[in-house]
Amino acid sequence: MAPVFSPDIIARVKDESDIVEIVRQHVTLKQAGAVYKGLCPFHKEKTPSFIVTPGRQRWHCFGCGNGGDVISFLMEAEGITFPEAVELLARPLDIDLSSWLKEDESEGERRAFHRANEVAAGIWCDAFWDERTGSAARNYMADRGFGEKVLRDHDVGWAPGGSGWLAEQLKKAGVDEELAIQADLLRSSDHGGSFAYFRNRIIFPIKNISRQVAGFGGRIIDQGEPKYLNSADSSYFSKGKLLYGFDSSRMSISREKSALLVEGYLDLLALAQAGWSNVVATCGTAFTEDQARLIRRGAPNVVLLFDGDKAGLKAAVRSADVALRNGLEPKIVALSDGLDPADIVIEQGPDVMRELLRGAQGYIPFLRSLADARGGDRQVKERALRQVLGTIAGIEDQLRREYVLQEAAEEFDVGLDVLRESLRMEKKPVPRWARNPNEGPTARVPGASEPPSPEEPSGPEEEDLQERRPVRPGGPMVKRRIGAPNPALIEQQLFAHVLKDDTGQAARAFAAERAGLELRTEGARQLASELEAWAASNESRSGVSPLKFVEDRWNSVGDRDYRGFVSRLLEKEEIPDQTDFVQVMRDCLATLQRGRSAAPQTGRSSDPG
Ligand SMILES: [Zn+2]
Repeated sequence: MAPVFSPDIIARVKDESDIVEIVRQHVTLKQAGAVYKGLCPFHKEKTPSFIVTPGRQRWHCFGCGNGGDVISFLMEAEGITFPEAVELLARPLDIDLSSWLKEDESEGERRAFHRANEVAAGIWCDAFWDERTGSAARNYMADRGFGEKVLRDHDVGWAPGGSGWLAEQLKKAGVDEELAIQADLLRSSDHGGSFAYFRNRIIFPIKNISRQVAGFGGRIIDQGEPKYLNSADSSYFSKGKLLYGFDSSRMSISREKSALLVEGYLDLLALAQAGWSNVVATCGTAFTEDQARLIRRGAPNVVLLFDGDKAGLKAAVRSADVALRNGLEPKIVALSDGLDPADIVIEQGPDVMRELLRGAQGYIPFLRSLADARGGDRQVKERALRQVLGTIAGIEDQLRREYVLQEAAEEFDVGLDVLRESLRMEKKPVPRWARNPNEGPTARVPGASEPPSPEEPSGPEEEDLQERRPVRPGGPMVKRRIGAPNPALIEQQLFAHVLKDDTGQAARAFAAERAGLELRTEGARQLASELEAWAASNESRSGVSPLKFVEDRWNSVGDRDYRGFVSRLLEKEEIPDQTDFVQVMRDCLATLQRGRSAAPQTGRSSDPG
């Protein structure tokens, strides 16, 4: 494929960009003679092996071997494509690229996706401020205490009811139906035609790091379910990798060395309105490792400000665990029961919020005070401490692990040696039974990572049931590593969900519907045949779950690849308990099957169907 830009223009963009300044937006650099050093943003490390050499306009990491020029740095660091990186660099240099743009097919697709979203965002924004269409939405937001400025700053919109309204507006704006369906703005209906996915909802555009609209969150304004709806994940939009508001908060986050993490779009808006600019929100999913690493690039600290109810508490403890494992220093703010951050900042004022933020506790003191609040008896404390140990076991940095362990010993008044010994027995990031093929799965320590709040999980919003919808018929065409759908990842998704489903319905459906689909890795192939064996077995009829079946046969089948593959799946903790596993499995399967028939690998086309 011909390059999108000529070599001349690329050379000019590279020459005129200051690589040190660009890298500095992501990495703290210290000058060391003719080079600059810092902690590599692409692998975990505690001593700097990441070098920028301005004289050669290059960067290199001696730890992970990554390296390149300013363009490849931006591509890696921001997860963007080559042309996007060139565009991003050219903008402040006043280099006009328009005459050089020759749209390459796959790039065209990515651009079209974002453009469709941007057009939709504009349409919904106009509808919000339009006298005729948006009054209910504007009244709702005004009643909740939101002023015009914050709503305009964040491009808040309104999706009116009527399933054909959006299609009509998009058509007028030149976005065709097929593209709108790919972007999940419209969905195909069973009876032919399409309908608008978001209807009667306040719309929050979710932007990626290059400020393109990648997807949307939508909130219902009256009683209706689900309260929140989000665009489905696709190759250009992944809720677990983006943070709402990060595009505009990242500078603030770097400056303040701290991010404020909330769970709701409205929480973010309320805090922004009151002057907090370092806020980010999860987009309707649990806080993920990717999101933790996104924050970690800019700041070492994160303050978790979640709803003051049991679900919020549980989410906060879980998120603090993810944060701590991924190199962030989390603090948790405890809100009174029934209140969310937006209520507090709007109804009680910024001073009350500031006071609450000042009272934020570190993870370990927080768990300790939680145990105390629950009566503080030995069992409660013991469970809290086990939770702490589970988290500590997942911290890779040895020094940090030691310090956190010391803190736990002090906080829970237990001897450090005892804790250290217990830690050795705790669950490791990769279960030991998976590391050592001769050891059975019983070596795992059940309960090690059970959170201390024993209440039912809040339950995913309805959209979780639909979010793994495949993107486009035939599978996305983008060839680039970044953003392209990765069949290996889809396979992992599929099997992670199948194994998580203890009822076995997803496994049974997989065995029945696989239809000879070839899988990419040996591990996946082995697991598939295990699941098929399970489906045909007496165990499945007598209620043995697929996971139990797999674990029972752990030592007698497969090899290291298989065991590695399966144990990685079991580490996927972000799958909510109440997911529609069968649906996710089917969506993944459909995507894989389409991918196969559209692009037979290495010229083999054994299966034309
Ligand atoms: Zn590195």
